[in-house]
Amino acid sequence: MTQKEDHDKEVIRCPRLGGEVPFSYCRTLQDGMPCDRVVICWELVFDIGTFLQEHYTPAEIKKFLNPTPKDKMSTLLDIIEQAKKNIKRDKT
Ligand code: SF4
Repeated sequence: MTQKEDHDKEVIRCPRLGGEVPFSYCRTLQDGMPCDRVVICWELVFDIGTFLQEHYTPAEIKKFLNPTPKDKMSTLLDIIEQAKKNIKRDKT
């Protein structure tokens, strides 16, 4: 069984942000839960399906893969806020 942090330092280009992000960002984007696109974005990098099954319940997976739609401004502000947190954390 993997640890939740095992893939945190792996990096891909985020189609939403247009820049590189580490898996730690994608794993915690929605209030500590993964981004709704985590499967699509990471499936070619490692076995994301098994990773999710090991670390999240079916109900959690269903919830973060199908989040309640937010208005565009709220989504944008959330992404910016999370990116700021990750940048601060990566510098420490
Ligand atoms: S999972 Fe979400 S945050 Fe991560 S690269 Fe894909 S769209 Fe961007």
